[in-house]
Amino acid sequence: MSAIEILNQLKEKGIRFTPQRQAILEFLLSTDTHPTAEEIYHHVKKRFTGMSLGTIYNTVKMLKEHGYILELTYGDMSCRFDGNPENHYHITCQECGRVFDYQYSFPELEAEKTKDRGFKVTDYRLEFYGFCSECAESGKEAGQ
Ligand SMILES: [Zn+2]
Ligand SMILES: [Zn+2]
Repeated sequence: MSAIEILNQLKEKGIRFTPQRQAILEFLLSTDTHPTAEEIYHHVKKRFTGMSLGTIYNTVKMLKEHGYILELTYGDMSCRFDGNPENHYHITCQECGRVFDYQYSFPELEAEKTKDRGFKVTDYRLEFYGFCSECAESGKEAGQ
């Protein structure tokens, strides 16, 4: 979904977006780096110097509540945000900490989660860890 479509849908719900908030949304839709709130802040602040970190938090919270973005939480590390709200998998580099989309699907797992086992499954998480191509190339794998 494009930023314009999202803004129009929100407008119909009575939510108006300032240019600052629009810039946050556009940044999230334009990147696949899964930025933290701080990273979004540093990016958007280049255009809107008066931007506060609070505006970032409010905006991502609202976008998440309306289902336009995903929030990825990693234990006690910062949350990351994803402009792609579809359920998809992520792989984290254990060396540099960057989070990438993992472009595989698991049809059996997808089917399994809808099976009735007396448990109403509302959500699930599957995380992958490894070394990104840059880190693997520079020979930083464990043991070297
Ligand atoms: Zn890496
Ligand atoms: Zn993602």
